[in-house]
Amino acid sequence: MNYSDKKKRHAELTKALSSYSRQYYIFDDPAVSDAEYDKLYNELLEIEREFPELKSSKSPSQKVGAAAAKSFKKIRHSAPMLSLENAYDENDISDFVDRVKKLSGVEEIEFVLEPKFDGLSASIAYKNGVLVSAATRGDGFVGEDVTQNILTVDRIPKKIENPAALEVRGEIVMLKSDFQELNELREKSGEKLFANPRNAAAGSLRQLDSAITASRKLTFFAYSVVSDEISFDFQTDASRTLKNWGFVVSDNVALCKNQSEAFEFYKKTEERRAELEYDVDGMVYKVNDLSIQKALGASAKFPRHSIAYKFPAEKARTTVLSIIAQVGRTGAVTPVAELKPVTIGGVVISRATLHNKDELEKLDVRVGDRVVLQRAGDVIPQILYPILEERPENAVPFVFPTTCPCCGSALVKEEDEAAVRCVNLNCEAQSVERLIHFVSKLAFNIDGLGDQNIRFLFEKGIVKSPSDIFRIEEKNLEFRLEKSDGWGKQSVENLFESINAAKTIPLDRFIYALGIPQIGRAVSKLIAKFFETYAAFLDCAKNREGERLKGILGIGDSIINDFNSFFANENNMKVLIELGGDGISAGLVAVANAEKSENETLAGQTIVFTGSFEKFSREEAKSLAEKFGGRATASVSAKTSLVVAGENAGKKLDQAKKLGLKIISENEFLEMIKLYGE
Ligand code: NAD
Repeated sequence: MNYSDKKKRHAELTKALSSYSRQYYIFDDPAVSDAEYDKLYNELLEIEREFPELKSSKSPSQKVGAAAAKSFKKIRHSAPMLSLENAYDENDISDFVDRVKKLSGVEEIEFVLEPKFDGLSASIAYKNGVLVSAATRGDGFVGEDVTQNILTVDRIPKKIENPAALEVRGEIVMLKSDFQELNELREKSGEKLFANPRNAAAGSLRQLDSAITASRKLTFFAYSVVSDEISFDFQTDASRTLKNWGFVVSDNVALCKNQSEAFEFYKKTEERRAELEYDVDGMVYKVNDLSIQKALGASAKFPRHSIAYKFPAEKARTTVLSIIAQVGRTGAVTPVAELKPVTIGGVVISRATLHNKDELEKLDVRVGDRVVLQRAGDVIPQILYPILEERPENAVPFVFPTTCPCCGSALVKEEDEAAVRCVNLNCEAQSVERLIHFVSKLAFNIDGLGDQNIRFLFEKGIVKSPSDIFRIEEKNLEFRLEKSDGWGKQSVENLFESINAAKTIPLDRFIYALGIPQIGRAVSKLIAKFFETYAAFLDCAKNREGERLKGILGIGDSIINDFNSFFANENNMKVLIELGGDGISAGLVAVANAEKSENETLAGQTIVFTGSFEKFSREEAKSLAEKFGGRATASVSAKTSLVVAGENAGKKLDQAKKLGLKIISENEFLEMIKLYGE
């Protein structure tokens, strides 16, 4: 790549990382995994190392967090709240130690090692011994005012025995056990689960209604005091004092005289990581002498006296209880290990995919084996290897079935494919999986039709094919779903409401929902753009003219074959015809033209607009939501993803607050859709 290519890539990375940061920090709802974010971030650093002139103040490498959300009042920090530089191995730590020695001119440096809590930082201000305000980090200079919320957190003292004006800094986390309890409750009430304890902590503290924060169990770990009026000699003194004032301070701390002592403690904590009550993603090395800390100062983003030595992806050991062969919607048979539940990174893992027959044979995982599992960030857990020394004597290799575990037809393995398939299109397991895919978030997004409900409706014969979903209401006149176990009048009404709301769908999501092999989100979008209308798409499918897709970048013979054979199946063709309408020839659903689905910022989100808006009318709001892949509904419920509150918002806003929904302002909504605007 030459300079102009690198410059272009730098601009792309800056844009992507900035929008990911806003999703992560402002909406507490990451768009990508941390590993993916870190990969792009490191690519950006690499370009800036080569071409330092690209490093402007706008670069993510120079910024801390993201600006405070507009819906909160703002608080300016008395001193910047910075991020921490990362170290990934002992060489990085040696470089850091050498730098500290060189810059300070001191040869013997003591370091304190503290857990790097995986939560969000908060700064709590005291005056005359009384808690007066509290803020999130925001962009490092100005944070969000979360005083009322902090007041609801247990064990944060409202009064301390010191009259000086000071800020106590630390991390708000959700303990693993509290996180699990909260997610179990949310699952029961059909609410969206938090991906990990960090998101749960951030989503709970950054609430406009402190009653919601009060209902969540949060813990604040204090780790520093910032003040012009009092000072300490050592980091260890500050921690001791914080403890005396009544703050929770971690016990998992060590004062280390040299790098090897520090490394020993780092390793020891890494081994015990799974047993800790809270999530940690590394250890923070801090110079213990605060006068040296002060002399070292900080860069725009990091203090020079501290560094976070990250832990590698978290691992755990557990036992394989059974191995099952699971049939997917395309007929691919995937071996899945059912595990004795184990917690990794605050998330309980009870299953792990073994990918395919070849992978399973290579790993040779057996029922009864103890295995080592890994989970990096929010990535799907992976079995690394079985612990052979602990293998039970009677453990035998798993025999991969030769017939479909559901319909009994012979399984087929194509030469160039890793997957073994059931090719019987009428196989019930495949039909159920296709239905589950059809109603999923990025497809028709029908709330109230989770996996279990789909299985139930399938077994009862009410829903056998996608078009049946839009006839449930009619069939229910006889069936009386509300009389079945687990259903009630309200849940049946809610189900009908969400089915009705799903009756208008953009063309790309419609195509994706059909579940044509190899036609995922990205390809569906390309196809939708190419055909523009349902009628044009139908025409191509009817005539099985998949070759026409050749004009689309990235579509080759293999996709074309799958397209043609999918529509050669009479049932699939029937579903396509029955379902679709383009507003002229009304089908069960109205498929909107492709231009309306160009942007997916709000994909799968159900949005309620309430109050009056300055920059758009209600009608415009609705079409904006649709244009960006979302859906506007009139009433607030636990299923609502987002509430946009304008001036004089009343009852709906109160309801949304009670339910703990995400509430944003008109401007934030506009910013959000600009996020991936072009
Ligand atoms: P960070 O969270 O990695 O480290 C800095 C923070 O560590 C400090 O602000 C402080 O709050 C905290 N901390 C925890 N324990 C501490 C202790 N004992 N002493 C001092 N501070 C302590 O840095 P960051 O800049 O907030 O975030 C960067 C990371 O966030 C990235 O590595 C990335 O993985 C993640 N991120 C992910 C996305 C995404 O889309 N997935 C987006 C943005 C950032």
